[in-house]
Amino acid sequence: MLNIVLFGPPGAGKGTQSEKLIDKYKLVHLSTGDIFRYNIKNATELGTLAKSYMDKGQLVPDEVTIKMLEAEVNKHANAKGFIFDGFPRTHNQAEALEKFLASKNTSITLMLALEVEEQELKKRLLLRGKDSGRADDKDPEVIQKRINVYNAETAPVKSFYESQKKYVGVNGIGSIDDIFKSLCNAIDTF
Ligand code: ADP
Repeated sequence: MLNIVLFGPPGAGKGTQSEKLIDKYKLVHLSTGDIFRYNIKNATELGTLAKSYMDKGQLVPDEVTIKMLEAEVNKHANAKGFIFDGFPRTHNQAEALEKFLASKNTSITLMLALEVEEQELKKRLLLRGKDSGRADDKDPEVIQKRINVYNAETAPVKSFYESQKKYVGVNGIGSIDDIFKSLCNAIDTF
């Protein structure tokens, strides 16, 4: 299997690049943010719970997120591999994912990180807030909170994969196609 963690701060372009990568490598895209938003739209219990955190720019509790992610993986028994987008976002989630995949006799192949600096992220997120209707992209305070949570809780996940020699950083500034080429090159030469 080819299992990729697509990593990077909010607004780095994970969703955009995931769509292109799943098409090329025939992988299943699992975006925890998208799954939460789907649940919010359908007014499920999980959606109501997730919304109370997402609206404030906080992380949904690990226990809930891990359980949901595992259920999603289990829905795709015949997958050639997965792109995990927005997961793992904490050290705890990274450990849970490792154990879960090991129980299925597989593992993460590599972590691809889109590197984009903070000023550019804020610009992109505010722009997305205008077009996409995502509530968490409209409010500069919520955006700042998400970036802070990323720096405090998510950025350290990098070292989890670095210590396993699975971390590859890619410049996330440039055209969508150029960034896609860099990602493909990283996968193909890993
Ligand atoms: P972005 O990367 O732009 O913040 P996402 O769609 O990945 O957007 O996530 C939106 C929100 O969903 C996050 O701010 C967080 O509240 C919640 N969320 C997504 N993934 C996770 C996760 N792995 N753990 C906890 N909360 C998550």
